[in-house]
Amino acid sequence: MRAFVYDRPTRVEQAVATVTADPQAAFLAGGTTQLDLMKDGVWTPDRLVDISRLPLRGMMTEGQLLRVGALTTMEQLAAEPVVARRLRFVREALLAGASTQLRNMATIGGNLLQRTRCRYFRDPTVAACNRRCPDSGCAAVANTARMHAVLGVDERCVALHASDVAVPLVAVGAAVTVLGAKGERQIPLTEFWVRADEGPSIENVLGHGELITEVRIPLLPEGWTSGYLKVRDRASYEFALTSAAVALRMDSGVIGDCRIALGGVGSVPWRAWQAEDLLRGTQPEPTLFERAGRAVMAGAYTLPGTAFKVDLAVRTLTRQLIAMTSAATR
Ligand SMILES: Cc1cc2nc3c(=O)[nH]c(=O)nc-3n(C[C@H](O)[C@H](O)[C@H](O)COP(=O)(O)OP(=O)(O)OC[C@H]3O[C@@H](n4cnc5c(N)ncnc54)[C@H](O)[C@@H]3O)c2cc1C
Repeated sequence: MRAFVYDRPTRVEQAVATVTADPQAAFLAGGTTQLDLMKDGVWTPDRLVDISRLPLRGMMTEGQLLRVGALTTMEQLAAEPVVARRLRFVREALLAGASTQLRNMATIGGNLLQRTRCRYFRDPTVAACNRRCPDSGCAAVANTARMHAVLGVDERCVALHASDVAVPLVAVGAAVTVLGAKGERQIPLTEFWVRADEGPSIENVLGHGELITEVRIPLLPEGWTSGYLKVRDRASYEFALTSAAVALRMDSGVIGDCRIALGGVGSVPWRAWQAEDLLRGTQPEPTLFERAGRAVMAGAYTLPGTAFKVDLAVRTLTRQLIAMTSAATR
């Protein structure tokens, strides 16, 4: 048993100040990632600052923006009527994640900050992990890899970002509001995570002690169709092998506009800019969808165990684009 100090502040500034002042401190929200890491000895902070009593729960719509408090649970967000109407792919991604019990504990802020499921990262008896222990090597590259990333990675680290809901959030252009010792700032999610090939041990741009206070999600305009497709080894309670979040608007038989991101493939939730550019203004056509998928996956870094993800991601995106363009023209 390893001792640690437990704090439960009631003011946001107090929580930020406590973690900022102690380099060995960490926030605790729903605990569904944090406690696992501590029990496994992967990450053992000396002080846990429980933020669950902070007034950061709940949602409000402000014009075309949904503001979600960071402590809102995955279940609460999925149950919000405006999410079902205007952000359907966010709701589908939430409900495709984990289990009902976990979703009732897990917060939206914690979900975005969940650590990789790489089995070598999560096993401290494995010495080689550049993410956990800089410059120690990467056991996944030298051994069996499967639930790993193929985009935004290289031989130093193939850790996957496993969040489902982060994928549509990246597609729709969501941002987080963050409070730190130097004040508040907003960070678009497309700039929030750091790719493993840009530095395996740095996962995001948060400074120590910075707290996510809310997630700001632009609502899709009326007339848009969206959906999330998750491909996994079993039908529930499993992380994605690949996934595709697609939102689009059809104009007189052509794709007027679209937002696309892929999950299960990147060291960060992967915005598919090339696919969006290729598809805008075109008539829906499966061969074009496949070409768009290939364009996104072109720079993939694969290992024998992860090479299947390239074709699978292309097929996942193609299938979801067929489904979304058909639904939008019905
Ligand atoms: C068995 C299992 C299956 C799962 N399956 C899926 C799945 O299919 N899809 C999916 O997307 N996820 C899945 N998850 C992950 C789950 O969604 C996350 O564990 C959860 O969302 C984390 O939220 P939390 O509130 O419990 O965070 P915590 O565990 O409390 O915290 C996670 C991390 O975030 C930090 N943190 C938390 N809140 C904040 C904040 N507001 N500001 C700054 N730092 C913060 C903590 O310090 C910690 O480092 C699964 C988890 C488990 C255990």
